[in-house]
Amino acid sequence: MPSSCPACISDQKKSFIGTERMYGLGEQFDYYECQKCQSVWIAEIPADLGRFYPQDYYAFQEIHEDSAFKKLLKRLRYRLFKKRLIQSGPEYFDWIKNLGLWENERIADIGCGAGIVLHQLAYSGFKNLYGFDPYIQHETQRRGLTISKKPLEQIEGTFDVVMLHHSFEHLADPNAAIEQLVKLLNPDGKLLIRLPVTDGVVWKMEREFWFQLDAPRHLFIPSVKGMEILGHRHGLKLEKVIFDSTASQFWATELYKLGLPLNTDPEKHFSKQELSDFKKKAEQLNQLQKGDQAGFYFRK
Ligand SMILES: [Zn+2]
Repeated sequence: MPSSCPACISDQKKSFIGTERMYGLGEQFDYYECQKCQSVWIAEIPADLGRFYPQDYYAFQEIHEDSAFKKLLKRLRYRLFKKRLIQSGPEYFDWIKNLGLWENERIADIGCGAGIVLHQLAYSGFKNLYGFDPYIQHETQRRGLTISKKPLEQIEGTFDVVMLHHSFEHLADPNAAIEQLVKLLNPDGKLLIRLPVTDGVVWKMEREFWFQLDAPRHLFIPSVKGMEILGHRHGLKLEKVIFDSTASQFWATELYKLGLPLNTDPEKHFSKQELSDFKKKAEQLNQLQKGDQAGFYFRK
């Protein structure tokens, strides 16, 4: 990783230690925090990074195909949403709405894991879906949906829409990654990058216990300002930033403070009331742009 900030290029930085807590391994890693834009990055990528992505890593979990009946219901629900007969639905409806997606667009999900988002889009009637992930076990090929075992730099072709849902922060070189993403976009193409950000109150308060620091898997965590600078340097226009943090920023961070790994059941440590309060607090922080993650909507 570079010694200057990958986002704003400033070399004014402070070091701190990040600890592996998801699996409770306790191994420690040097990180930097930019003093200019507040982005965070790992000082050195571990040579054996693959060791920190075991087979039970959540993104690799197999997808259970919905029944024909459930798929039909999902397609109907999406039609109602499209006709504005219902206002809300699952989270992917927000992305569809914010990106202005339509069913025939060529849509890529990079770092898609087993392809949960793409499967939901396929059930809703989207017909031109492509997923890429270098770490998956099996490739998928079904009508309208192809998932390939490929890293970002080996993806070919161009797309109307490219999405990364919590994968960008795992990429080794943010500038090379953005450059490659721009190449994959059609003229006027849309890019959605959802990832943790350092603007969150939880990071400011809890520092290295923040569960989305996720050492050593998260290699680069920008601030909103840092992400805007990064996109702009590569010719992207930032159209909107939507905070979408959840209750997990509180309960998972509290678990880490108790020395517990992420697979701990939060219901064993927090009351229903506490969990419901965490959810409300997350919604309030999102409104204030102080949640711990956001979606960046760029256009080429
Ligand atoms: Zn910076």
